[in-house]
Amino acid sequence: MVFTVKTSTKKHINIPIFIPHLGCPNMCVFCNQRTISGRQEFDISTVEKEIETALATIDTEHSYVEIAFFGGSFTGIDRSLMVDLLKIANRFINDGRVHSVRCSTRPDYIDEEILSILEKYCVKTIELGIQSTSDGVLLASKRGHTSLDTEKACRMIVDSGFNLVGQMMVGLPSATLDDELKTAEFICKMGATGARVYPTVVFNDSELKYMCENRAYSPLTVEEAVDRTKEVMKVFILHGVDIIRVGLCSSDNLVSDDTYYAGPNHVAIRELCEGEIYFDSIISALDNKNVDFNKKTLLIRVPRGEVSKVCGHNKRNKTKIKEKYGISRIAFEECDMPKYHISVDILDKE
Ligand code: SF4
Repeated sequence: MVFTVKTSTKKHINIPIFIPHLGCPNMCVFCNQRTISGRQEFDISTVEKEIETALATIDTEHSYVEIAFFGGSFTGIDRSLMVDLLKIANRFINDGRVHSVRCSTRPDYIDEEILSILEKYCVKTIELGIQSTSDGVLLASKRGHTSLDTEKACRMIVDSGFNLVGQMMVGLPSATLDDELKTAEFICKMGATGARVYPTVVFNDSELKYMCENRAYSPLTVEEAVDRTKEVMKVFILHGVDIIRVGLCSSDNLVSDDTYYAGPNHVAIRELCEGEIYFDSIISALDNKNVDFNKKTLLIRVPRGEVSKVCGHNKRNKTKIKEKYGISRIAFEECDMPKYHISVDILDKE
């Protein structure tokens, strides 16, 4: 399986290698890493074949290919295993089919020695599981580190020349929207190039499930998760930080009847959030216009390919805007404008 991350001059493709829970002595309340990585065992002898299989589906000449060690805390696994995995990845870099490596890890598994090993083996991007910068939320989630550890790790990563990607969660135990906005602001301030935002889903066999059963935790509904996640996304959009992912990956076998217990697991949660972001922009643009909309036509200019998101799920944005302002018709014009931008005009006709 390959993940296309972003298009620039070359298509950026990640070849994910999932490493379950290896070396992790922690038990964050939301985590069942074997569930998240979608497999029970990890066998290094299969990694090379896995990469070859993925490469066979990729146009390596026209793609920027990264091998991505995801799933567990890569820099916390047994050191010789970590180096062996990096050596395998580097064989593909040396033969020219792969360009670099990325990995995900925890803030307290970053130090100068680890960074020097990662640099030696062509790791360019480190995805840090920040989750929250509130010490209260980290404690309630049993993360086992503090926000100070996170800040130190971010500084070391960026100062050493790596790309930093901040992973954060929405709806963790005791977290408020304010905590989540502060976490997003922090990720931007630290110089992250990208972010992943995960509304908290409750898995079977996680401590969070038992917290739900004991009424110590209530998962967000999809609507609540969208309301909070869209505000977090606005922070990243404002700061130009690429939002790589919102929500767990459905193609990754992460959430099935066996693994899912509760929470906002919606296959199109990103699209729902984006629809709300566009809706908020349109409302704000209309509220700034001092005109009578009654029985007029609203022209909304939108980025190319974004009309369906601007209309919203089941065209609900369109319906709500018409009702709120008494507008008789809404027309769209696709333009060359950045994603999430819109402009509006009121036309003097029905
Ligand atoms: S540190 Fe990562 S792998 Fe370990 S328990 Fe927490 S989320 Fe799971």
